[in-house]
Amino acid sequence: MKCIVCKKGSTEPGATTVSIDKGATIVVIRGVPAAICSTCGEEYINADTIKDIEKIVGSAQKAGLNIAVQQFNAA
Ligand SMILES: [Zn+2]
Repeated sequence: MKCIVCKKGSTEPGATTVSIDKGATIVVIRGVPAAICSTCGEEYINADTIKDIEKIVGSAQKAGLNIAVQQFNAA
């Protein structure tokens, strides 16, 4: 896929770390699959992956955690 930010690079599959600050909870998720631009480093995360991230954030909030560090596990 061509990068829409720099319009020069193309993306390569990789993994990234995502941090989400939501309400009283901060969740850091490692190993999130993403397409990463080889030129500018922009990261593209697909909609299914974002849904999984939201589930992880939701369960951390239910557990009443202030800070959670999770490894992303593809469903
Ligand atoms: Zn780019």
